[in-house]
Amino acid sequence: MKVKIDQDLCTGDAICVDLCPDVFEMDGDQAKVIVDEVPEEFEDACRDAAESCPEGCIEIIE
Ligand code: SF4
Repeated sequence: MKVKIDQDLCTGDAICVDLCPDVFEMDGDQAKVIVDEVPEEFEDACRDAAESCPEGCIEIIE
């Protein structure tokens, strides 16, 4: 599973970083993805972050 963020929409509220800090990290005033492949143990947290993102800008690629 891979994940990416639409940087045009990210408002930098850090919800994804709070929910899944092993995959997302703040980079200035926006979040970024810090892994190429999401490790299996973080997939659920990553999906949770995608569902919780208020902007809907986290895309999961299975
Ligand atoms: S939850 Fe969405 S809007 Fe908020 S920092 Fe993460 S990607 Fe950006």
